[in-house]
This record gives sequence, C-alpha cells and structure tokens, in this order.
Amino acid sequence: MKQYETVIGLEVHVELATKTKIFCGCSTRFGGEVNTHTCPVCTGMPGALPVLNKKVVEYAIAVGLATNCEINRNCRFDRKNYFYPDNPQDYQISQLYEPVCLNGHVDITVNGTGKSVGIHEIHMEEDAGKLIHEENGSMSLIDFNRSGVPLIEIVSEPDMRSAEEVISYLEKLRTTIQYLGASDCKLQEGSMRADVNLSVREEGSLVLGTRTEMKNLNSFKAISRAIDAERNRQIRIIESGKRVVQETRRWDDNKEESYSMRSKEDAQDYRYFPDPDLPGIFISQEWIDAIKADEPEFKTAKMARYAKEYGIPESDADIITDSRHMADIFEETVKLCGQPKKAANWLMVDTIRLLKENSMDPEDIRFSPENLAKLIKLNMSGTINSSVAKEVFEKMFDGDMDPESYVKEHGLAQENDEDALKATVQKVIDENPRSVEDYRNGKEKAIGFLVGQTMKAMQGKANPGIVNKILKELL
Ligand code: ADP
Ligand code: MG
Ligand code: ZN
Repeated sequence: MKQYETVIGLEVHVELATKTKIFCGCSTRFGGEVNTHTCPVCTGMPGALPVLNKKVVEYAIAVGLATNCEINRNCRFDRKNYFYPDNPQDYQISQLYEPVCLNGHVDITVNGTGKSVGIHEIHMEEDAGKLIHEENGSMSLIDFNRSGVPLIEIVSEPDMRSAEEVISYLEKLRTTIQYLGASDCKLQEGSMRADVNLSVREEGSLVLGTRTEMKNLNSFKAISRAIDAERNRQIRIIESGKRVVQETRRWDDNKEESYSMRSKEDAQDYRYFPDPDLPGIFISQEWIDAIKADEPEFKTAKMARYAKEYGIPESDADIITDSRHMADIFEETVKLCGQPKKAANWLMVDTIRLLKENSMDPEDIRFSPENLAKLIKLNMSGTINSSVAKEVFEKMFDGDMDPESYVKEHGLAQENDEDALKATVQKVIDENPRSVEDYRNGKEKAIGFLVGQTMKAMQGKANPGIVNKILKELL
C-alpha cells in the first residue's frame, strides 16, 4: 500500500464570556429557562436593529494578539444568508470580507518537536438558537436563548498532520483563551467547538487532496478517534480507485463512525454581502495598545519563570499553569509561606485528584491561598503530621476554612513530646511480642507495624518520626 499523509485544518468556534449578547442586551447565561433571554433583535423580528457589543471586539482583538495575528483596523460584518429554523433572521451576521484578525500563528510542541500552526483568520459572528427534538419525534421546538451569543471563529491553515498536533493546538488555544478570560472553552458544554477539515495525499505530494469537514466533536478523545477513522475511510476510498467527495460529515462517537450530513456549500451559496444595519468598525492603534498592555502572563512564560524563580520541576509547572486560577493560587501561597515545592505538591497531586473525583474544574477551587499557606506551615512546624494534614486539606477543599482553628477545635495537633509518647510505645511493645521478636530477629519491616499500632493508639496524632525513634531505642 502507498504511504499517505494526513492534512488537517481546524475551524474553532469559541463562545465569548460577555455578559450580554453580541447585538442586543439579552443575557448570555447558560441554562436559563427556554426563550427567556430573548428580545426582538435576537429573535429576528422585522425592523429590529442590531447594536454591536464593544466587549466582543475587545475579546476578539485580545485573542488575535495572543495568536500573533494582524489586527484588521477596518473590519466589518457581513450577512451569511441561509434558512434554518434556529436562525430567525434567515441570515447569520458574520464576517467574510474583512475579518477582525488575519495571518497569525500558534506555536505547539509535539513529542519534543516545535511547530508553528498558521492562523488564516479570526472572525466574529453570532450563534444560532437551539433545536429541541421531542422524544416521541412528533415535533421540534426552538430555544432562542443562545441566538445572538457572541462567537469568534478561529480558522487555521491546513498545517496539522496528526491527531496529536490537533490536540496540542487545541490545548494551546484553550489555555490562551482561558488566561485571557475571553471564554471558559468547555468542549462538553459547547463553548468551544472544533470542526475538523481533513484530507489525505500521497506522501511527498504537494497538492492538497479533497477534504471533508467533520462536526459534532465534543471531546479531545472524540476528535482523536474521528481523525483516525476519517483518515482510514479516505484512504480506503482512494485505494479502491474512487474519489473522496467534499462534504460535511457528522461524527457519532458511540458508533465511532461518521455519516454524511450535506454536500459542501461554497461561499457563493450564501450570497454574502456587507450588513447594511451595522457600520464598519474602526479599530484605533491606541485601543490595540491598551488591550496588549492588559495581556496576562501566559502559560509558557509562567512555566519558564516558575523553573527559574521557584526551582520547581517543569512537569509540576506544566500542571499548575494549565489553569490561570490555579497558577494564581500557587503564586499567592508561595508568597505567604515561602514553600514552592510544598505548595506545588498540594495543588498538582491532592487538588487535581479531588477535582477529578468531584468532576470539577480548577476554576471551581474554593480554598484560599491564605489557608493553604497556613496548612503548609502547620505541617512544616510539626504541629500536625502529614496524614492529618491531608485530612484537613480535604475539609478545606470541600469548603474553605481556617486550618489553624480547625486543628485546634478538633484536637488534631500531633504529640511531639517524647516522654508523653514513651508510655504508649511501651504499651504497644508489651502487647505485640511477636512483632518485637521478628524485629529483633532482623525483620526490619516489623517496626512499621509497631509504628502503625502506636499511631492508631494515638488516633493518628503522634509524630511518626519520633515514634520510630523511641521504638528503636526501646527495642
Ligand atoms: P470554507 O470557507 O469553504 O470552509 P476554507 O478554505 O475557509 O473553506 O477552509 C476551511 C478550513 O479547512 C481551514 O481550516 C483550512 O485550513 C482547511 N482546509 C482547506 N483545504 C483543506 C484540505 N485540502 N485538507 C485539509 N484541510 C483543508
Ligand atoms: Mg468554513
Ligand atoms: Zn436579545
């Protein structure tokens, strides 16, 4: 069989985190009662006029700057005409001729190799409503709450060659946009949606093959599976002497296969024209400069600084900086307790575990850096041992509270006093002659059991190091 290369370009839609919609004052909040966040503008009533939300342009420019784009200082909205029941105006306000950002790139690293993925453009547009299909199939209902929610569409060049590169690109986009606060970028909830354009060509060929566009991909796993399946499907078609048809396909992640939705439409099918209701947008250099000046320190820069300033391993920094919120907690905690490695461990091990167990995002972390710093200090000073610290931490994770008062109230301070511990240790020795004998006969491990018994007798509040020391002395 011939060798084939996979060629992938992505169209990524991101819902922007504005409070109100792009062309009206309705709320963008997710999950409201159906058709309550609506008005004549976002339900397409005749005569209603759109007014642009400035914050949308600001977010689009911020994402453009962060992805090395040129900002189009004179951009404009166009009407994309098509009928669909959840599209009440019979056109979508989008940008075709003069998109807000152009010619950028995103740098990714896959298996240690760096690569730059070109950004063809970023444009602003409005989201459509949502169709709700009745269970029994007798009718469909329309919820217009999402109609007019602002989107940006980030269109890449066909520069990616594998699922790994695609995931890496999407992760980079997602953290960048989350750091900017421009969107929460949740694939599952649809605030980030990626359409995968894929073609294959013989290895070494310079002409692009015919592509298909795949939709309905709502997790990185689904994207990965869909890419492999589509690559194989296209190769099978070509190998059997047929041609790939340019079309839009829908991925069914349960069946792990895609099916044709519609043949591909061209730009001309939409009869795009400049929207006469919206004047062109002039973007001043001052505005761009102000947005640039407001840019946060991004993940890559943070990781480098953490290695240099705090001396923590790159793998730690990588996990912590995945979320700006977690990175903020980390930095604040270190400022308060001066223990970067300890703070890193609480976040990347215990916090990540608890987030997973509770299906929460790092953004949902409730404990404060002040309290995490206090906990670290309590443990470092020997006031509480590590297992009690873990117990207190879990309580802090559930609902932020002051670990100092909690330890006091619940009498969790550990016993560090040798004389106070000696009596308990002696009692454990007397009660466990077998283990004592084992230890004396050279079975070093037997001491672990005796430490455990002492800890148990002390309800977990003894200092295990000191217990160990006393045991060795008494045996
Ligand atoms: P359209 O506007 O018709 O959807 P575009 O030219 O804007 O088409 O491309 C849409 C996306 O498809 C872009 O991300 C682009 O990189 C990608 N793309 C275009 N041609 C190919 C191809 N032959 N193989 C893979 N991806 C492609
Ligand atoms: Mg397109
Ligand atoms: Zn509205």
